[in-house]
Amino acid sequence: MRLPMKNVIILGSGPAGLTAALYAARAMLEPVVIEGGEAGGQLMLTTEVENYPGFPQGILGPELIAAMKEQAARFGAEFVSGDATAVDLSRRPFRVETTAGTFECRSLIVATGASANLLGLDSERALIGHGVSTCATCDAFFFRGKEVMVAGGGDSAVEDALYLTKFATKVTVIHRRDQLRASKIMQQRAFDNEKIGFAWDSVVDEIPDVAQGKVVGVRLRNVKTGDVSELPCDGVFIAIGHTPNTRLFEGQLELDVKGYIVLKNSTETSVPGVFAAGDVVDPRYKQAVTAAGMGCRAALDAEKWLETER
Ligand code: NAP
Repeated sequence: MRLPMKNVIILGSGPAGLTAALYAARAMLEPVVIEGGEAGGQLMLTTEVENYPGFPQGILGPELIAAMKEQAARFGAEFVSGDATAVDLSRRPFRVETTAGTFECRSLIVATGASANLLGLDSERALIGHGVSTCATCDAFFFRGKEVMVAGGGDSAVEDALYLTKFATKVTVIHRRDQLRASKIMQQRAFDNEKIGFAWDSVVDEIPDVAQGKVVGVRLRNVKTGDVSELPCDGVFIAIGHTPNTRLFEGQLELDVKGYIVLKNSTETSVPGVFAAGDVVDPRYKQAVTAAGMGCRAALDAEKWLETER
């Protein structure tokens, strides 16, 4: 059976994937977006987005995604509601198996994003976007005059804690050991900041009272003594690292030690014709606007590459 042959398949429907779709559609490449199991990506887990240019009053994450999708669809991008389950990048055309069928394509843009690691509590999932956040840059502003917790002990946790002190009255870093993993200079800044306190050797056991629909405190457990305590707070920021969504590409695309896709030149991956954009290549900035910019670059790179391959 002959499989549907596409010029460009885009894996992922966050800001990187949708911007790639917009540009590829306007280049008349008739792109197909495989939306993924978590369609829309991490913006679907946020509430108000206030740092995406062009929206002076802010915009809800899901609304921003819906608008990007509508804009790409207007120029002919096709959307497949499903998840990619396997890819074969060893030969051209590339083959993409999804829960909604199998496709072949001349070029591929990987924009599968990264997922913030979570503690694994039901209460945390339930309150994401309602006091629990995985992005201090995005959400710190909503905690002006409030008390917050940051779970984690790496550079992200300390950077988030420092950033949060611009808004919150008190920030407590909850770390499972008695020493931070963060770089020394970041540690020193945190220790010097009188708004920042520490709960050492501790983990978040529960975010109680989920029924209130907001964060009212955390239950901490000391991992050395087993002691449990409850502390009131208005927000919990989870900063225990991210995992790029690259399992499908293991052994096919060059990945770094943390699993992020390695780029060669602009958005080119180790396989000619395969491009990547957004959080799946970016452990550093992790912003919607930077992902969108890279999605644009990936589509332009794919367009140019397809012209030379014809
Ligand atoms: P990271 O360095 O991997 O740190 C993750 C932290 O979360 C660790 O302290 C870890 O504890 C803790 N953790 C992991 N799983 C946990 C769990 N289930 N429960 C409780 N705590 C848990 O991740 P990151 O801070 O996101 O940083 C990622 C990379 O980006 C690093 O290379 C970092 O240096 C870099 N970065 C740099 C900057 C900067 O230079 N300004 C800013 C942000 C990030 P343990 O320490 O016990 O393992």
